[in-house]
Amino acid sequence: MSTLSTHPIQQDFLEKETIFADVILPIPIPKLFTYRVPFELNECIKIGSRVIVQFGKRKILTGIVGNLHHSAPEKYTAKYILEVLDESPIVSQSQLRLFFWMAEYYMCTIGEVINIAIPSGLKLSSESKIQLNPHFNPEETALEFSDREYIILAALKNQDTLSYQEISDLLGIKNIYVVLKSLVFKEAVLIIEELKERYKPKVEKRIRLTQPLAVGSSALEPLFEQLQNKPKQEAILLKYLQEVPIFQKPELNPLGIKKNVFRETGLSGSSLKTLIKHGVLEEFERVISRFPEIPVSGAAIKLTEAQLKVKEEVLTIFEQKNVALLHGITGSGKTEIYINLIREVLAGGHQVLYLLPEIALTTQIVGRLQKVFGDKMGVYHSRFSDNERVEVWRGVLSGKFPFVVGVRSSVFLPFDNLGLIIIDEEHEPSYKQFEPAPRYHARDTALVLAQLQHAKVLLGSATPSIESYYNADTGKYGLVKLQARYGSAQLPGFQISDMVKERQKKTIKGEFSGQLLEALNKALENQQQAIIFQNRRGYSPQIVCQDCDWVPKCTNCAVSLTYHQYKQELSCHYCGYREPLPVTCDLCGSHRLKTVGIGTEQLEESLSLLLPQARIQRMDLDTTRSKYSYENIISNFEDHHIDILVGTQMVSKGLDFDHVSLVGIFDLDRMLHFPDFRSYERTFQLVTQVSGRAGRKAHPGKVVVQTKNTTLPILNKIIRHDYERFYAEEIKERNQHAYPPFVRLIKVTVKDKDQEICEKTARHYASLLRARLSGRRVLGPEPPLINKIRNEYLMEMLVKLERAKVDLKSVKGIMTKEALLLTHDKPFKSAKIVFDVDPY
Ligand code: ADP
Ligand code: ZN
Ligand code: ZN
Repeated sequence: MSTLSTHPIQQDFLEKETIFADVILPIPIPKLFTYRVPFELNECIKIGSRVIVQFGKRKILTGIVGNLHHSAPEKYTAKYILEVLDESPIVSQSQLRLFFWMAEYYMCTIGEVINIAIPSGLKLSSESKIQLNPHFNPEETALEFSDREYIILAALKNQDTLSYQEISDLLGIKNIYVVLKSLVFKEAVLIIEELKERYKPKVEKRIRLTQPLAVGSSALEPLFEQLQNKPKQEAILLKYLQEVPIFQKPELNPLGIKKNVFRETGLSGSSLKTLIKHGVLEEFERVISRFPEIPVSGAAIKLTEAQLKVKEEVLTIFEQKNVALLHGITGSGKTEIYINLIREVLAGGHQVLYLLPEIALTTQIVGRLQKVFGDKMGVYHSRFSDNERVEVWRGVLSGKFPFVVGVRSSVFLPFDNLGLIIIDEEHEPSYKQFEPAPRYHARDTALVLAQLQHAKVLLGSATPSIESYYNADTGKYGLVKLQARYGSAQLPGFQISDMVKERQKKTIKGEFSGQLLEALNKALENQQQAIIFQNRRGYSPQIVCQDCDWVPKCTNCAVSLTYHQYKQELSCHYCGYREPLPVTCDLCGSHRLKTVGIGTEQLEESLSLLLPQARIQRMDLDTTRSKYSYENIISNFEDHHIDILVGTQMVSKGLDFDHVSLVGIFDLDRMLHFPDFRSYERTFQLVTQVSGRAGRKAHPGKVVVQTKNTTLPILNKIIRHDYERFYAEEIKERNQHAYPPFVRLIKVTVKDKDQEICEKTARHYASLLRARLSGRRVLGPEPPLINKIRNEYLMEMLVKLERAKVDLKSVKGIMTKEALLLTHDKPFKSAKIVFDVDPY
């Protein structure tokens, strides 16, 4: 696969038709480029295959064929496609349709979509390398080579690979393609895709008897006689025969055994080598999967009557509608219902995609699913290496994985026969990609994917997004409800800690209300576990000089630096900038620096002082950076090696623990007052979800919420678990103030290193839009809350479009075109204009 195949040139050119290919190139130019297909490639070129083309004067790029047709480009003479890399396409036509939809809907280039969609192991690159063909022997060949070809061949004797650039330098000519093509044709060199090599199959070393000995006892007896005085070698041979009983089953020998079996049982490595040297044993490699084989061990769980009813309702909805929304409270057994449905769809011969929000959820649920689906199931995870991703990709293509569980990016996998997509926790903001483009929403993209493949979609959540619930409410989706927890489990009861009162009564210790502390003590006494939720990491979000109010700020962004006590440093959560904790104020030299606000690190510290007997663990971005740290924390908590888990929203998502009886929630007020039209929705969801971790099994759970504002109306709805009331009021607000789902939003961000250019560009662009789209649809520009990130100044505007009257496609076309035109002009050239469709 890693070589370029040469294609036999057909004799009868006369009959050949002239084909043109529109090629998607990995460059941020919003169009495809038309190339001419050489006749000899007519048969093997296919939509979705990778091709090598020349772009500009000397750039060689790998692209993907987006379309094939017969019309020559009008404005330029098409260059020829240089090579076709794949015998069969690596992306299907239906995938390409999805990618094109994304580029158009999310206002980015198809190249940007492809860039994110395809694992780098399969990706486009210009980094092709040339190497000698190992089967080529210059002494034996009867072929003739030109001078230039000789130069290349000679250079490749000294150096394993050469890049296009190096060859071009070597020959002193720009267009090296003709020379290379000839060498490839003569099978003297191979063109290796450097990036393709990034995918390395995982191999294991194995040992087996060489063929003449594997026939049976007649061949082995004389051997054992020879080995009489060599007990170590004899032991190895005996071990082999014990593991691979070739006398009874000679067919087992070709597979041999793993080489490290010998080492593990303490047998000598050098004796093994000797046996190999003497041709008794041989070593070979076998390609194995990166994913351990998982035996299917889960006895099928029997659905309860309520769950069965839900499943039937979902199936009934699917007879008429494509999408069903399952509003099931936390712990009601949604996952079990999914499993049941997935089984049936798989049995019907269709593929299933199960989407989960980022990392947090995966560990536990993947474990549960693996027990049922074993190695039919592929996992597509944000923390996977590229090799692992390529393996899942290929597994989907080959049919090895008819079922994939994955995060956001698994909507890009090469499915061709999806029957069902499940979108778990469909309300989760992490389904939206923020940076870089395409800024896509995986739920919404999955809905389109399902349409393309005629698959059904099941959305599930205990706290559906306002948008989805509205779609259910208005009949676009079917709605199913599950209002009871599984078994005897009850939803947790709430207790509101009035922080103003507690402060007056001086019952607060280390930011913990008296009520919460008491509850924590009680949980510990009863051998129960607790979760403390604070959606802010670090020790404290600000350091302030008490004498002059100076606050250390990031040098690259317009934000204050967060204090991390553990490392004694300040760091920026936007760009990663760090500096040591200052001893004195930068402005007035005062030593009186104090911390303001609390993060998870500080809560962890307070807790360990207040409850020295408790085993406490923190779970946030800082403690889960390495690949398995997240899994380790979860399993330690599951096994009750931890009493209290302190964390950010990571602790809120879908986790299922048996012994959590208490959840403490900090900073409700800050969540609510975040300036965003979704802040109420977010708060309702976060608090309900974190609370949902309590009391999931027999023991009743309790939630303590700390707030300075006990009369907030939203509290009432959270406490009563009254989603419907919450929805009814929220949807009224959205309607009144023209927010989604009643309008569509497109956020436009202008970025520039120069503040003035940034502001000018933004104002100019806004006035262009106002002229084209009417003034009332364009809000801003304004500097956002944080108006400088990574040394770039930011200005934002919001385009609000009514759902009904507006032709979305043409509006987006206008916006893109005006932005392109504007940034072509001198004063605005350096500015970037970025679109975020359906911003989150
Ligand atoms: P949800 O996804 O709705 O939060 P889960 O599917 O995680 O709920 O179910 C909560 C707990 O109840 C899990 O531990 C699950 O294994 C258990 N459970 C749910 N339904 C059943 C069932 N029918 N039989 C046995 N256990 C169940
Ligand atoms: Zn000062
Ligand atoms: Zn910064």
